[in-house]
Amino acid sequence: MSIPIGKVRTRYAPSPTGYLHVGGAWMAFFNWLFARNQGGTFILRVEDTDRSRSTEEYERAILEDFRWLGIDWDEGPDKGGPVGPYRQTERFHLYRQYAQALLDRGAAYHCYCTLEELEAERQRARAAKRPYRYSGRCRNLTPEQRAEFERQGRRPTIRLRVHDDGETIVVNDLVRGRVEFDPEHLDDYIIVRSDGSPLYNFANVVDDHTMAMTHVIRGIEHLSNTPKQWIMYRSLGWDPPQVAHLSNILGTDHKKLSKRTGDTAVRDYKRAGFLPEALVNFFALMAWYPEENREIYSVREMIEKFRLEDLGKASPVFDMTKLTWMNGVYMRELLRRDPDRAVEACLEPLRNAGLLDGQVTAETRAYIRQVVDVLGDRIKVGRDILTYGDFFFTDAVTYEPDAVKKYFSRKDVATTLAQLRERVAKVDRLDATTVESIVRTMASELRIESREIIHPARVALTGKTAGPGLFELTALLGRDRVIKRLDSAIDWIRRLP
Ligand code: GLU
Repeated sequence: MSIPIGKVRTRYAPSPTGYLHVGGAWMAFFNWLFARNQGGTFILRVEDTDRSRSTEEYERAILEDFRWLGIDWDEGPDKGGPVGPYRQTERFHLYRQYAQALLDRGAAYHCYCTLEELEAERQRARAAKRPYRYSGRCRNLTPEQRAEFERQGRRPTIRLRVHDDGETIVVNDLVRGRVEFDPEHLDDYIIVRSDGSPLYNFANVVDDHTMAMTHVIRGIEHLSNTPKQWIMYRSLGWDPPQVAHLSNILGTDHKKLSKRTGDTAVRDYKRAGFLPEALVNFFALMAWYPEENREIYSVREMIEKFRLEDLGKASPVFDMTKLTWMNGVYMRELLRRDPDRAVEACLEPLRNAGLLDGQVTAETRAYIRQVVDVLGDRIKVGRDILTYGDFFFTDAVTYEPDAVKKYFSRKDVATTLAQLRERVAKVDRLDATTVESIVRTMASELRIESREIIHPARVALTGKTAGPGLFELTALLGRDRVIKRLDSAIDWIRRLP
């Protein structure tokens, strides 16, 4: 293994038991940012020892979502590297080797207790109202006792021999400072199951050490694992990496982030038409404010400015309103710089709504681009194209009840729309100026206000009371569709009781 000494090495270690969660992506982001800031190495390691819940499909999806976010890795299951393999299920030879080393040194031992025996111990502890700790019954078995258990066909687990010398275990957390753990709560914990598979606290330590990790930034739920891991490092004669435990992201209800207050999977954000650059910018600000009163940072700036000591321990709130606003800022910029990508963010929402199918032609893209232009600032997130502009993609316009009440209930509305229809039918090409002059001329000839035409026409064409300018949207719909929709509306109104 050739790892440059003194270089920062960080990792993210997902378990492929589900799609990439925004909380996980957020942790990964800081490991990545720190590595990039330090000119170090960022690694992806797949913790797939829970075979019943891990799938290749989830692993693929997680990698895909990281790629989409622009969080790249230098070593990982797909590209290899000097300390591979990068999947725990492919590293069993290492766990076996170090478990054996611990056994040889007497730092670990075989435990033959059955599940029933352990359960009985647990019940006794419960009855006596003391916290459960393994009794250590198998700590000092004689060779004869072992042989007897083996003869009975019992298959042992391996436990770490934890010395309770009363010494407090201290974790110097980069975010939380000095955290002390009372050794009283620790017992000889299992590091290898009877089927030979390693447990998290063991595999994690072996991997972090053999992969030469220097810093580990992870979720607060792992803080309570840290003392166990520290004992493991000591038993193996290794130095632990530096650790930072970040608090969990909360929803706007100040409870753990859940579906109730927003999506939890990164891919749901992709599907909704969020932009990766907005998400990572938002990720940064959930833990760290590089400068006061400034929200928008390019990735390059974030990498430059990042300092590990700026990470806070408060629980950040996943504020959808802010993320949406931020996405809007990036959307505007994309429209100037790279409109194709702004269009791209609208494709999936359109597809999922059934308003777009098959291959998207260059012509369709150009049309979506025009729609996005007409909708302007209303589009903050790709899916806003549905909220404000679904009518650009379907003739099946549904009239909002409010709109009907307000603008379709007057007796002469059908006549007004019919007049408009006749005038529109007479021109060959509808552009915004033509529509405007048709409407203004008609208003003055009929001695009515332009808005008495504009409002019902908008409802007829879009189903809504609000939206982009009528003249622009009419021009984009084009003469034929406008005539068709006016006809349907006239019909619909005439059929009203
Ligand atoms: N596989 C663990 C998780 O997904 C990683 C824990 C760690 O970062 O040490 O939570």
